[in-house]
Amino acid sequence: MRAILQYGIRDVRLGERPDSRPGPGEVLLRTRSVTICASDTHMFAEGNVGGVSWDGPFVPGHEVAGVVEDPNGTHLPAGAAVVVDPAVACHNCDMCAEGMFHLCRNLKFCDLPPVDGAMRELLAWPAERVFEVPESVDVVEAPLIEPLCVAVHAVELASRPADAVVAVVGCGAIGLFTLQMAKVRGAKKIFATDPIPERLEAARRLGADETIQVGPQDPVAEILRQTGGRGVDLVFEVAGSTEALQQCLDVVRPAGEVVVIGIPPVDEYQLVASSLRRRELTLRFVRRQNENYPEAIELVRQGTIQLGPMLTHRFPMERAQEAFELAERKVDGAVRVAVTFG
Ligand SMILES: [Zn+2]
Ligand SMILES: [Zn+2]
Repeated sequence: MRAILQYGIRDVRLGERPDSRPGPGEVLLRTRSVTICASDTHMFAEGNVGGVSWDGPFVPGHEVAGVVEDPNGTHLPAGAAVVVDPAVACHNCDMCAEGMFHLCRNLKFCDLPPVDGAMRELLAWPAERVFEVPESVDVVEAPLIEPLCVAVHAVELASRPADAVVAVVGCGAIGLFTLQMAKVRGAKKIFATDPIPERLEAARRLGADETIQVGPQDPVAEILRQTGGRGVDLVFEVAGSTEALQQCLDVVRPAGEVVVIGIPPVDEYQLVASSLRRRELTLRFVRRQNENYPEAIELVRQGTIQLGPMLTHRFPMERAQEAFELAERKVDGAVRVAVTFG
């Protein structure tokens, strides 16, 4: 089968891999669309993400939708459009026993080397991690259900999103989903910040009350000014940078909460201890999602959450290099970029 292989830094090309074959309990999917996550662009541009690097060409991508090619005796019907949870838990460790499958100590993750990712024509995956999507959903947009799950999980981790004044720092796909979820969960007012004007326009359309362009405007000064110096109750860090985390800590009120979703390019934070301690802040970190697929799919089916606005560009697999470059550079209004197959 044809597959997209990353050979080195900023070097992604079409290559060959042996055809995938389903093992026991696995279903065989024909890949239709894979969207490029920030973690993929870190791997593309820096050769590592969160300290994980690779040797030898590997297949990137974990946000994937396809159709069932061979049900292989599982519950999934042939021809059904599906999405995949890229994480497979062991169901044997202490974390799994407590229902925290996403924190499994033996987690297998699609596209974390040496496990090949999803940018290949065929994918065999455990049927229990494969979910049917409604017919109303465009299969090219469907991979966005994965980042939507992250937003659903992040807002569910926050202790009190209802009636909160919220800031979402970073308006990529997960930021825009987080803002919508915060609204669904009853946030009273939402500030959204990002350096890119198109992303702020999207944030406004999707329910942000106030948008602040980082660069021309100072997000900290602006949010403090607009809250009369009080600060916000709850902040989501979705930009993946140390500066953004600092901004979150600077705009949250005493006894407030900062939920960190973003992945910083350098695997380290520097924080001012006294400023955290004296204000008794809660700092929460998010590890993807935990069993949120059914809920996320239902929100999309009902039309409560739209996937379309987050998918800005589509490239056929032959043009994967261009797709990665665009996703990395975030120009031309790019939010999520899809690579399509077949
Ligand atoms: Zn992702
Ligand atoms: Zn486990």
